[in-house]
Amino acid sequence: LRIVSRLADLNLTASSRVGFVPTMGAFHAGHLRLMERAKEDNDLCVVSLFVNPTQFGKNEDFDKYPRDLDRDAMLAEEVGVDYLFAPSVSDVYPRPSTTIRVPVVTEMWEGAQRPGHFDGVATVVCKLFNMVRPQTAYFGLKDLQQCIVIKRMTEDLNMAVLLKFEPTVREADGLAMSSRNVYLSGNERQVAPLIYQELRRCRAALNVGEDVASELRRSTESLGAAGFSVDYFALVDTETMHHIEKPVINAAIIAAAKLGSTRLIDNILL
Ligand code: AMP
Repeated sequence: LRIVSRLADLNLTASSRVGFVPTMGAFHAGHLRLMERAKEDNDLCVVSLFVNPTQFGKNEDFDKYPRDLDRDAMLAEEVGVDYLFAPSVSDVYPRPSTTIRVPVVTEMWEGAQRPGHFDGVATVVCKLFNMVRPQTAYFGLKDLQQCIVIKRMTEDLNMAVLLKFEPTVREADGLAMSSRNVYLSGNERQVAPLIYQELRRCRAALNVGEDVASELRRSTESLGAAGFSVDYFALVDTETMHHIEKPVINAAIIAAAKLGSTRLIDNILL
């Protein structure tokens, strides 16, 4: 493993196939799965570790976001990552940057809850693609809307990168792995798996033809009763992220809810 902070030290030969995994660090098994995939499919696996300030809102957790480069480097080395690219904020943003705004698919759900978030994501991913120039980039379906936003960006701007989206890696009790799970108190950690339980319950109900609106409401109420503050629990078409009334092919149930001060998101494909 080579840890590099300067783009100039990332000397990738033009002939090698590069698989790229953009991350914000605090690695867990979800990140490591993406790295393993990138390693399997390519000659070189490059992972970026950059806590991107432009995708955090003013009152979000940029300052307290978990950071531990030594631990992350050890884990990346274990799965065979070739380069860990960890640039500084001033190297990535030497001055206020040109921004990429993907229309429509950024307007609802996470985009509505977190104004500007997806502009920050699209911009940094574009910049990282231009720096690393990968053939293939790997993203987790845990962040379903982010996958759709990046897919739209690469299509709209004719970017020559192949995207691969990988299934969500979960804890034994079903909780989707997330760097933010460390914020949960012991008690909140016990309750947190209910999001995935409700996603599964709701999917099972919709798959046998139960009424969509009543099942979504039932899940929202059950999460509320357990102490969650639910931002949304919705059925969407994954092509457009639009809310839909009937299950179709490519539908997903998406959820976001706060438990105490920790905001959790998850989803399940129908
Ligand atoms: P982050 O460091 O949170 O920005 O995540 C980096 C990448 O890992 C993104 O593509 C995420 O979607 C992906 N990821 C995060 N959590 C999981 C998970 N539980 N399973 C699979 N991929 C994940």
